[in-house]
Amino acid sequence: MGFRLIDSADLPWLVATREKLLGSDHRHHGLLVSGPPAIGKYLLGLDLATQMLCKQPGQGRACGSCQSCHLLSNSVHPDLHLLMPEVLAEDCHPALLSHAQRYLDAEQSSQKRKRSNFISVDGARLLSESLLETSRLGGRKVALVLAADALNRNAANAMLKVLEEPAGETHFILVTSFPYRLPSTIHSRCIRIECPAPNVNDALAWLRARHEPESEDLSTLLVSGLGPITIDELLSNGSVAAMTTLVAYCMGKNHKTPDSLTLARLCGEVGVDRALHILQNLSLQTVRESVRKGAKASAGGLFRDLGFSIRAFQRLGSARETVGSAVDEQLALEDICAWVCEEHARI
Ligand SMILES: [Zn+2]
Repeated sequence: MGFRLIDSADLPWLVATREKLLGSDHRHHGLLVSGPPAIGKYLLGLDLATQMLCKQPGQGRACGSCQSCHLLSNSVHPDLHLLMPEVLAEDCHPALLSHAQRYLDAEQSSQKRKRSNFISVDGARLLSESLLETSRLGGRKVALVLAADALNRNAANAMLKVLEEPAGETHFILVTSFPYRLPSTIHSRCIRIECPAPNVNDALAWLRARHEPESEDLSTLLVSGLGPITIDELLSNGSVAAMTTLVAYCMGKNHKTPDSLTLARLCGEVGVDRALHILQNLSLQTVRESVRKGAKASAGGLFRDLGFSIRAFQRLGSARETVGSAVDEQLALEDICAWVCEEHARI
């Protein structure tokens, strides 16, 4: 994996939210940071945690040289508690992964199996127990929960008590792209901070400064609703061509009626899970656009209809959970592609 470090301070679309979050000393003990997927929210959460733990924070940022900052840069800070679902470990930033390891180990205690999409109750319990202990460095304790929507009900309940009555100076930073999936008991104990969607030109400029791709490819991917951080990873891994072809096909750039075998082939070239993720993103994009503009439908292409897009989003979501473990992955993929194309033809 060719990760290139990203500094959340360099992400133009997060500047305002970053200032708001890092610039204040008086924070609620429960923050819920939400916003579109793959725009750098996790890194922002980590920066916020770093600043909260820093012994001598300056104007809106950590000092970078105290004991706490030193431990954080080596990913071994005992008072940063990072929880995330196992599935994120597959392609998350290495700095986040090393912090997350102690709770991931708890989650993986049972037999080998597919990496879970959920944050397990074991992980959440261990986190709550650790947070009841005294801070190791004598300062704050910060719990950073990434993809907090992945907390299932039991895991959320396990965390609730410390969120209600945090011991000492304990702060929670929950980060999610799907805040509505969190139980209301969690919502009601947090202040929500919404990160705005990146402006396409800002995202293009940021990506161009890091890579030298065809700008037409970049625009296609950005318009599809893939976040700039995901696109940055794709460009680093050199897998952008198949992806662009798939997105362009779904957006109806090269044809009138999508056909399921072509769609399945293009998905196969991208990789099943990633392809279904992209299709789901595209359907979500239509839903988001409709909410934002109040219009019935937005762009053309496969997911031009709002009602169909909502159904497709759900269906693709469950397909993502089952296709990976299907006996015949190719057949399962062709099945979901056939459903998408047939439903599309009906509208
Ligand atoms: Zn510091």
